Amino acid sequence: MDRSSGVQILGRSKAAARSIPYRAGYPSLATAEHRAQAALIAGEYHDALSGLPGLDYLPGSLRCLITQARRSHQAVALIALNIDEYRPVCEAFGRTEGNRLIKRVASILRTAAGPEAIAVFAGGTSFVVALSGLASTVAASAPAQRILAAIAQPYDVAGQELQMMACAGISSFPNDGDDYETLLRNCTAAMHEAMAEGPGAIRTHSGNVALDAKRRLRLRADLSRAIANNGLALHYQPQFDLCDGRVSGVEALARWFPSNGRAIEPRVFIPLAEQMGTIGALGAWVLQEACKGAATWQAADDSPPILCVNVSTRQIDKSMCAVIRHAIERAQFPPQRLELEITEGSLQGNLDRALACLAEWKALGVRIALDDFGTGFSSMSHLSRLPVDRLKLDKSLVYGLATNRRNAAIVRSIIALGKELDIGVIAEGVETEEQLQLLEDFGCTQVQGYLLARPVPLAAVQGLLSSRWGMRRSHARALDADTQRLEAL
Ligand code: C2E
Ligand code: MG
Ligand code: MG
Repeated sequence: MDRSSGVQILGRSKAAARSIPYRAGYPSLATAEHRAQAALIAGEYHDALSGLPGLDYLPGSLRCLITQARRSHQAVALIALNIDEYRPVCEAFGRTEGNRLIKRVASILRTAAGPEAIAVFAGGTSFVVALSGLASTVAASAPAQRILAAIAQPYDVAGQELQMMACAGISSFPNDGDDYETLLRNCTAAMHEAMAEGPGAIRTHSGNVALDAKRRLRLRADLSRAIANNGLALHYQPQFDLCDGRVSGVEALARWFPSNGRAIEPRVFIPLAEQMGTIGALGAWVLQEACKGAATWQAADDSPPILCVNVSTRQIDKSMCAVIRHAIERAQFPPQRLELEITEGSLQGNLDRALACLAEWKALGVRIALDDFGTGFSSMSHLSRLPVDRLKLDKSLVYGLATNRRNAAIVRSIIALGKELDIGVIAEGVETEEQLQLLEDFGCTQVQGYLLARPVPLAAVQGLLSSRWGMRRSHARALDADTQRLEAL
């Protein structure tokens, strides 16, 4: 069947749609002819377990929603949802109860997402909801919150009260893409970020929290002042080499602690600076400050760590080369110890122009890393053309390592790919011993994450440089053993 028939049907007026009994997840239809079409669609896309259409239903429907949104200058959002209770419920109460859980979420989506939403079951423990007619991207966060709140309502499994939690990632047209593939990839990446944050989290694709207009305006003014008046700070997170346990690198991370309130996350202020056109000034300050700080680090074995600095997509332009040269010359910092982190996404627009910039940076002697690797534009053919020294495995992949077989397979393949191409691979977001062990088993020996060390202010970095992870770990284990021994007495 031609999927565009689904597209046509979705285009019917709301008045017509209301006159027909609504079948959850599918568009309502006006005439007998349309009902017949709907039955066909239902037959082809219907997922028996959830009672919703399957993911295949989405491309055609989304195309239609985007066409309508272009005409009406509105936004369309995709919300990817992941439920984290399926496996424990199956293990504790059996598969039937697990399946009941999927049905329950499907039924919640039918009501909580609103009558105009299209909800589909994406397999496993994932669902995707398409919302149309939104005034802006921000408008998608309220329904997402409503859905998560409904899912979190306590419910009964075999006479026991349980609470189910979910995470959501949002991408939207026109901000994050204008086709199914891009929007799905982006909301899925955002969902992985939300999962890394913990149950109940919502992330938008750009990673920034959906800010309301008033807060955005106030923040813009405050951020401009902070950039102009040296009001930002840097924290540094060590990276460890598991072969010898030493700190092999340190990533500089921008911090903003406004005097009149709570700390603001980089996920909020970096995209804001990009939109305001001040990311160039912010990035230049970060680079200079980080080179100045790192120039003082001394390592016991005379091989001080490399310094990693994040570079925004907007900084990949002609002027950046001079900014890098100025920073390293001023701090007398060896360029081979500077690694600039760009994201896969930043190469998506004009690859040839980006390649020309990267070649200039490389000519200065600096290293280049691909940050958040594995979530975006990972293409083998591009990888072979890129002058990259390291791939940074995204933390969303590391997060699911122990529990998700597909994640583990992707991580293993990326590590093997790095070896084949002679490109280093570092895993970020390592939070548990289990993840660390698996990474080691897969042959990844460079790691960064809260398990090993959190970002710290400059003053604390030198102290960390003399510690080795193996020693820290055995020290931690010895303390554990001592505690257990004392408890047993
Ligand atoms: P990133 O470059 O991928 O940096 C890693 C982020 O993961 C940091 O978040 C770090 O604090 C966090 N992280 C490290 N270990 C763990 C872990 O074990 N678990 C979890 N859940 N998180 C971990 P942070 O500092 O909030 O920065 C977020 C992002 O903001 C960075 O992601 C980077 O994309 C951007 N950013 C930060 N500083 C700068 C900067 O100076 N310039 C630019 N352009 N972007 C920056
Ligand atoms: Mg980074
Ligand atoms: Mg990263």
